[in-house]
Amino acid sequence: MKLNDYQEKAMTTCLASCKNEVYAINGLQAEVGEIADKIAKWVRKGICRIDNNHLVFNTSDEEVVNEYQEELAKEVGDCLWFIALCSRQLGYTLEEVAQMNIDKLRDRATRNVIIGEGDNR
Ligand SMILES: [Mg+2]
Repeated sequence: MKLNDYQEKAMTTCLASCKNEVYAINGLQAEVGEIADKIAKWVRKGICRIDNNHLVFNTSDEEVVNEYQEELAKEVGDCLWFIALCSRQLGYTLEEVAQMNIDKLRDRATRNVIIGEGDNR
């Protein structure tokens, strides 16, 4: 699926009352929080642990691990929905935002400033 196709389809589910920047940004933050919340609760319950910055599930049952990973992927999808909304509210397609990001990263890599600080380095 192309990003713009996704954006077009996703935005057909956007209610009129949600077509604004505040809802888009706050919704994105909330969805990112849902990912962090799931991981925190799983760590608390001993379902998984953080090992060398990686999420490691405390089971060898692949089916169970896949279910947890799918839960996280669905939350990532929710983030994508809000990113699509943010992009549209700012007047961009998702593909334009993606291309702008790749262009920025390539430029930084070319100039050897991937590691550094500042939005406009
Ligand atoms: Mg969600």
